[in-house]
Amino acid sequence: MNEPAAARLRIPSPTGTTRVFAVLGYPVAQVQAPAIMNKLLSEGHVDGIFVPVAVRPKEFVAVIEGLKRIENIGGILVTIPHKFSAAQHADRVSETVALIGSANALRRERDGSWFAENFDGIGFVNGLQKAGHEVAMKRVSVVGAGGAGASIVAALLDAGVSELSLFDVDKARAVALSERLSTKWPSRVRVVLEGPTYDSDIFVNATPIGLKPDDPPPFAIAQLPKGALVVEVIMKPTETGLLKAAAARGLKTHRGIHMLKEQIPFYTEFFQVL
Ligand code: NDP
Repeated sequence: MNEPAAARLRIPSPTGTTRVFAVLGYPVAQVQAPAIMNKLLSEGHVDGIFVPVAVRPKEFVAVIEGLKRIENIGGILVTIPHKFSAAQHADRVSETVALIGSANALRRERDGSWFAENFDGIGFVNGLQKAGHEVAMKRVSVVGAGGAGASIVAALLDAGVSELSLFDVDKARAVALSERLSTKWPSRVRVVLEGPTYDSDIFVNATPIGLKPDDPPPFAIAQLPKGALVVEVIMKPTETGLLKAAAARGLKTHRGIHMLKEQIPFYTEFFQVL
């Protein structure tokens, strides 16, 4: 057995007392949170396990409602494409989830009810700042107004970006998000309908484009201005076509893993596992 596979399998077996955390998505081949969380739990001798669960959209309601009834399920992480649906299955939601309508973490409360939060945006902004990329007063162009994009855009506005332009192939989704955000940050989001804008300092891919090797980059690389920072949410592959092309042009790049790494402390606190 090669070393990475052996390391992955060095997870203590669950027992009858183990708290189980499901990571719901479709696809799930790319998810990294279970490996990171299970390593932390194992090192901390915590009796818990995170398990990726592949759920097709048409099965999502049945699965999440079923999981909520299982007594040793301590919480649920949610990824593509279920974050908006997930927010509908909590009894209470955070202020952020109420604003953007998307959730990536649900936990069981002491009284058995379910509470939902979204840490994508704070993880994204903290990841940039820790890598030395300030966002305050910067112009940012985001492609993708989905479950992760919504959280990212809200966190960027909260962090004080000067201008935010948003593009999504699902135009109605981008417009709806901008309308929700304008209740808190009036006139700060510009929705662009025909493609991403190129008069920005920071360019963010918040779509699944790049998960597949032959995906075209979500931005026309040749149009990105000199000195631009190109930011990816995709973690697998670590170097997407977008990042490779941006680096080849001499632009600054920032990988998707930073966003997840900075969410981990929030997950451990939220689920009270460490
Ligand atoms: P969603 O499906 O909720 O949203 C993706 C959005 O992007 C959809 O509105 C989709 O429209 C749109 N879109 C797809 N292709 C394009 C395109 N070429 N141009 C413009 N818009 C496009 O997914 P999530 O937001 O949940 O996830 C997005 C990505 O972020 C995934 O790859 C996921 O793995 C990654 N992610 C990374 C995290 C990290 O910590 N690094 C954390 C969370 C997510 P339509 O539905 O019409 O296709």
